[in-house]
Amino acid sequence: MVIKMFKPDALYCEKNIENYELGKELLEKYKDVPKIIIDNHNNIEEMRKKQNTEFPKMKRNLIIGVRKTHKFVENHKTSDYLVPYTSSGCTAMCMYCYLVCNYNKCAYLRLFVNREEMLNKIIKTAEKSEKELVFEIGSNSDLILENTITNNLVWTIENFANNPKRKTYFSNQVPHGR
Ligand code: SF4
Repeated sequence: MVIKMFKPDALYCEKNIENYELGKELLEKYKDVPKIIIDNHNNIEEMRKKQNTEFPKMKRNLIIGVRKTHKFVENHKTSDYLVPYTSSGCTAMCMYCYLVCNYNKCAYLRLFVNREEMLNKIIKTAEKSEKELVFEIGSNSDLILENTITNNLVWTIENFANNPKRKTYFSNQVPHGR
C-alpha cells in the first residue's frame, strides 16, 4: 500500500514564524507551496466568509502561527490539565470527530511554532508539583497525525526525556468521537 503524504494547497503564515526553528523548517519543507501572510491565525477573514460546503477545501490548507494563549485548564477526568500544545484542528475529516462539531469552519490544522515555550511551561509546572501529573496535549488536535508534518511527537518525547522530572505523564487523547 502506498501512503500519500499530505501536501497543502496553501500556507497561511503569520509574519514572524521564520524566527522559530520549526517555522524555518516548515517554510523550507513547503517552499514550493503558495503562501498567504496573515496577521493572526485566530482570525482569518477569508476563511470566516467561506460557505460550509468549502470545508473539505479549507482542510487542504495549513495555518502556521505562534500560540499566544498558554492557559492550562484543570481536568478531573483523563488528566490533571488540558494543555494548549503545538496544534489545533486536523487535516482529516472523520465524521465522528468532535472537532468538526465544536470548531466547524476552523477545524483545519493550525500549527504553532513556539513549541519550546509550550514544553518549558509543562516542565516548570511539573517541577513545582509535589505529585506526578498528567498533561493532556492532544485535546483539540491529533498529535499523531500532526507528527507526520512537524515531527513534534518525536521532538516532544526526546526533549521531555532530558527532563529530570520525567515521571510526569503526557496524554494524547485524540478527539475520536467524544
Ligand atoms: S482529530 Fe482524529 S478523529 Fe478528528 S478528524 Fe483528525 S484524525 Fe479524525
